[in-house]
Amino acid sequence: MPMNVQSIAGLPDRINQIRSLTAEIVNREILPRENELWRWRRDGDISDSEKNKSRDARRAIQEKVKQAGLWAPHLPEEYGGCGLSFLEHAYMNEVLAYAIGAAALFGVVAPNSGNQKILLKYGTEEQRKKWLVPLTEGKMQSGFSMTEPDNAGSDPRSIQTTARREGDEWVINGHKWFTSNGLAADFLIVMCRTDDPEGPAETNGKMTQIIVPTDTPGVNIIRGITVWGRSSDHAEIIYEDVRVPVENQLGQTGSGHQAAQDRLGAGRVYHCMNSVGQMWRAFDLMVERASSREVHGGLLREKQFIQGFIADSYIDIQASRLMTIHCAEQMESGADARTEISAIKISVPEAYTRVVDRAIQVWGAAGVTDDLPLAAMYQGARTLRLADGPDEVHKILIAKNVLKQYQAGGSWDFGS
Ligand SMILES: Cc1cc2nc3c(=O)[nH]c(=O)nc-3n(C[C@H](O)[C@H](O)[C@H](O)COP(=O)(O)OP(=O)(O)OC[C@H]3O[C@@H](n4cnc5c(N)ncnc54)[C@H](O)[C@@H]3O)c2cc1C
Repeated sequence: MPMNVQSIAGLPDRINQIRSLTAEIVNREILPRENELWRWRRDGDISDSEKNKSRDARRAIQEKVKQAGLWAPHLPEEYGGCGLSFLEHAYMNEVLAYAIGAAALFGVVAPNSGNQKILLKYGTEEQRKKWLVPLTEGKMQSGFSMTEPDNAGSDPRSIQTTARREGDEWVINGHKWFTSNGLAADFLIVMCRTDDPEGPAETNGKMTQIIVPTDTPGVNIIRGITVWGRSSDHAEIIYEDVRVPVENQLGQTGSGHQAAQDRLGAGRVYHCMNSVGQMWRAFDLMVERASSREVHGGLLREKQFIQGFIADSYIDIQASRLMTIHCAEQMESGADARTEISAIKISVPEAYTRVVDRAIQVWGAAGVTDDLPLAAMYQGARTLRLADGPDEVHKILIAKNVLKQYQAGGSWDFGS
């Protein structure tokens, strides 16, 4: 079923135009061919000629995306993107995410996309030329290496990986895991606790992000971790006396924590808009099945249990979408949206899990097969509750921000 995308009254023409152009490509070029485009991922044993055919089909779609002026929405034109504003990109994502893997066909592939944003904001002109341009041209791959197996990822203060300055080099030692895309990456942005005996005392021990090419001696990629029963490219990596030039440092010494926050804040809104698009797809699939499957003398849609699923899912999607758009508007206006970001980071993946769960139930056994996108969506939704900061950490943050207002003698303004 194609995604039903119409103009939204009150939105700038440009956003409506982006949504409509994106939907045209998603509905016409991607949805009818999802299996052909992505089967190589699911069935690793397909022949080389079939793999080539599906690669050529993906490239042809990427060309059409470029012609439509929608390539790499997260990057400015001078770096090969189409230079969308934050809000335009957020609205585009709900349409993109309706089709499996469509983001990659529009030039947005995590973690490369997050690294591109960091290189744009914190990189020198030299670093952008060396790392950002080839990343955007698809000539390089990258990863972001922050989480450690022996320390709590939800508390960045616990990071133990060190970078010690020796002459013109940083010498890195540490143990990371869940470095996504780690097996394919040409370089990694590594979060380190820097120690420079000659540097100012106040920055010592603070976080700094450092670019590390994966072919540097001492970068030991141990394995791709098995996730949800499948091998993955989320890599476990031991950094052992890894030496890189000091020019590979991103931004000021000690700016690594802020850079990570910048990356995650916007990313969380994009992820939530993606989840809305995927819920929308799950909803359409659920209603489609309920309207065609006969059980116990009638169509599923005539049963009140199933009508309840439809109503509850409608509420979940509308609430998630409106909260996410509100948060995106706050960010676009430059307001401090940390409370809103944490709220959607918790509530949207929970709603997404519920919506997909109901769709699976309606489809019965077919719902848990790979013939439909629902099983992968279910795993993705569950994973979102951990990645980018687990729910509990965000709840603590919301409560802290709210209580601060009351303790200062004010109260919370839900109208803003
Ligand atoms: C598929 C996937 C991809 C990922 N990709 C990357 C990547 O590319 N790069 C990268 O660096 N990392 C990546 N991660 C790691 C991810 O960011 C971390 O898993 C996440 O930040 C949580 O850290 P942790 O796993 O160490 O859990 P912990 O910090 O050990 O937390 C475990 C649990 O403790 C609870 N908890 C934590 N704090 C509190 C609290 N204050 N009060 C109450 N309960 C609490 C929560 O329930 C939490 O789930 C990825 C993870 C996954 C699953």
